[in-house]
Amino acid sequence: MTQSIAALRDIESRIELAAKGAGRDPASVTLVAVSKTYDEAAILPVIGAGQRVFGENRVQEAKTKWPPLKGRYPDLELHLIGPLQSNKTKEAVELFDAIHTIDRPKIAQAIAHEMATQGRQLQLYVQVNTGEEAQKAGIAPRETEAFLKYCRDDLRLAIAGLMCIPPVDEEAALHFGLLAKLAGENQLQGLSMGMSGDFETAIALGATHVRVGSAIFGVRG
Ligand SMILES: *Cc1c(COP(=O)(O)O)cnc(C)c1O
Repeated sequence: MTQSIAALRDIESRIELAAKGAGRDPASVTLVAVSKTYDEAAILPVIGAGQRVFGENRVQEAKTKWPPLKGRYPDLELHLIGPLQSNKTKEAVELFDAIHTIDRPKIAQAIAHEMATQGRQLQLYVQVNTGEEAQKAGIAPRETEAFLKYCRDDLRLAIAGLMCIPPVDEEAALHFGLLAKLAGENQLQGLSMGMSGDFETAIALGATHVRVGSAIFGVRG
């Protein structure tokens, strides 16, 4: 068995345990296997092992890797988990099934426009900058409600949930808890939070999508 397949099985069982430990249905947690920097040869065994939801952080990289794979495996779901530039929105809406990183009005407008033009409906998440870090993308926690209202009322966008990337030097649980609180206050079900090092904590705090890369594919070079 390839190493990544064993790692995938391990992550799957840890997700199941974490969900059960939190009194949740394991099926309520979707594993997004983050394949950024890894090529088709590394991804194929993981698809072969049954994984169908993948995450990429760059539109350009995803465009070179995924169209042939999506052709061969039509049930693949591709999630954009990295920042989106507005001049890449058309390509992103063509290729991806979900976008986790709506972080400003201009991007929300561009996505709404492209989805209407292409007749495509993507799962959409608003990224919240829970740590209010200057270098990090995302809506400030206190502006989340107004931004969601803008997406819903002005753009008619259906937002599935919220996403965050906690500051590296802080307790992730505080940020997951804040994201869950904001989602609850805004009647949102989806919570995209948790990575290789902290997905079990995220599941305990309600994550519906965990984004796990290096724990499956190996540490990126
Ligand atoms: C790379 C990345 C991940 C996966 O990180 P790992 O630590 O490799 O699991 C998750 N979310 C985002 C936004 C990423 O860019």
